[in-house]
Amino acid sequence: MQKNPKNKSEPTLIEAAQEPGLVIETKDLWRIYAVKNAKQEGIAALRGVNLRVRQGKFVALKGRSGSGKTTLLNCLAGLDQPTSGSIQVLGHDLIQMSEQELTSWRREQIGLVFQSFGLLPTLSAYENVELLLRIKGEEYDTRHKRALECLEMVGLSNWRNHRPYEMSGGQQQRVAVARALANRAQLILADEPTGELDSKTTHELLNFFQRLVKDEKITFLMVSHDPLVDQYADEVIFLKDGNLVETASASDCEP
Ligand code: ADP
Ligand code: MG
Repeated sequence: MQKNPKNKSEPTLIEAAQEPGLVIETKDLWRIYAVKNAKQEGIAALRGVNLRVRQGKFVALKGRSGSGKTTLLNCLAGLDQPTSGSIQVLGHDLIQMSEQELTSWRREQIGLVFQSFGLLPTLSAYENVELLLRIKGEEYDTRHKRALECLEMVGLSNWRNHRPYEMSGGQQQRVAVARALANRAQLILADEPTGELDSKTTHELLNFFQRLVKDEKITFLMVSHDPLVDQYADEVIFLKDGNLVETASASDCEP
């Protein structure tokens, strides 16, 4: 790929296609948050991240609180603009896309299981799953069938008429996953989806994610502190002080 050494406001004219099979590729990704006090330097949450994730992989991302995990996921989802560097996701160069393009791209191809992207509290599980399909203009029969199918995949058929507050944290996370599945997301990004769960429920959910990746050929990138993920993920990667590191000590993975 042609280098763009200056900044993101000067787009490169020729972008080579993303390597086949590569779903995520970031190069020298920096995200520096400005601080109110002009005398202080900004906070560098990401410091030159080079990340590559292949299609059909279940990847766990670990790192201490403040290591930049959420910032990285936000950049990969096009919810945040990096300060410099490049991001290719599913063959799209996110830096070159407008807000509007990013919004529809996200709706078409990405599933987000984020706390900040929670479920709508006044809607039932079924309605939460069905909503995006409705926005996309799917026929009633198609979206009804798909929503029920996906609730069944996550084991929540009997909970379809419950609202989020009537469900446990784990069940709500599974509704969010069903919503991503209904939308036929090719890439699911999840920020600490097992954070609030007991170990039995965590095992169940991780097992479910593992099968999902295998059966549906989805790529799944999940932030987690949980040592249990090591048994399920195809790959475990570590962020430390805004950069990927090869290996990490136990204290680097603490919440
Ligand atoms: P993690 O998810 O690994 O806990 P974050 O990506 O949330 O880490 O944060 C990385 C660093 O960036 C932290 O030092 C955090 O305080 C800082 N940070 C995150 N979001 C903002 C923001 N909106 N403004 C300023 N600093 C931020
Ligand atoms: Mg975080």
